[in-house]
Amino acid sequence: MGLDFVQQPPKGLLDPRFSHPDAPLRQPGASGLTGVGAATHLVALQRIADDNGGNRASPSPGYAASVRYVTAVLRDAGYEVRTPGYPLPKRRRRGALIREQNVIAQTRTGDPRWVVMVGAHLDSVRKGPGINDNGSGVAALLEIATRLGGSPPTRNVVRYAFWGSEEDDMAGSRHYVEKLSRRDREDILLYLNVDMIASPNAGYFVMGGKGKSRAKSGPRGSARAGGVLVEQLAATGVVAKTLAFDDESDYGPFVVAGIPAAAVLSGDRKTKSRKQARRWGGRPGERFDRNYHTPRDRVDTLDRTALDRFTRALAGTVAYYAGLSDTSTV
Ligand code: ZN
Repeated sequence: MGLDFVQQPPKGLLDPRFSHPDAPLRQPGASGLTGVGAATHLVALQRIADDNGGNRASPSPGYAASVRYVTAVLRDAGYEVRTPGYPLPKRRRRGALIREQNVIAQTRTGDPRWVVMVGAHLDSVRKGPGINDNGSGVAALLEIATRLGGSPPTRNVVRYAFWGSEEDDMAGSRHYVEKLSRRDREDILLYLNVDMIASPNAGYFVMGGKGKSRAKSGPRGSARAGGVLVEQLAATGVVAKTLAFDDESDYGPFVVAGIPAAAVLSGDRKTKSRKQARRWGGRPGERFDRNYHTPRDRVDTLDRTALDRFTRALAGTVAYYAGLSDTSTV
């Protein structure tokens, strides 16, 4: 499939090494990156939920098993992996705040002063296994990470975040962003959030650059990132709709901290309109995800086409920013 899934960015913006036919996210042939690779991780996350009381909420044994799974996949792919802790607000055991873990992995190559960050929450709600929300985002990140490998020939560092406690007021990502030094914050070129990308009645939404206030459109650089995502989705054959940020997922703390951000989502409890059904297929008058936050959010209910398109578009966007050499234009 060669470069099929990567919309060519403007010339001169990529590290020339990245245009090489052997570049990791652009390998020719059947080994190309797809949602099928991502789907194998969804099966694993479903099994983890099934073995642990039907959920992967943090804190819980299902979340701990999810952390072990993601960590093992990333270490096998050659990444440096850390599991920094954070306190859970309002939850105490014998007087001490209970702690939980995020998983952070990054490439061993690339300039650490230019970090492309892509994140997905790893926890589910207590009521269900959380396979669309947000096993789908986790699976896409793992597929991209394993295809790219821990030591790719990219100009910039790629860092992956798997957040705990998104379903608990985003405690994991909030703590991470609060602890960044000013210099750490400035090193992050972009934060890309992936939260639900395989909704059973999928829509194709992008956030970044829409709206008048900074809270809605994101800091400077967010509009460009949203535009790259829209182009990458177009290359997979779908016309995305751009929405304003609403502080309902882990991009929230990044936007507040002034870090350029963008996001993708396939829709949750809102209803698909007739116009959207004409544009994207699926069932008008029905929710994007009828199983949202229920025990039915299982691996067998997902839209595999949406998973495939979003995974490829995200890979192309990560490749674009990882190879970006003229960072003044961001
Ligand atoms: Zn979510």
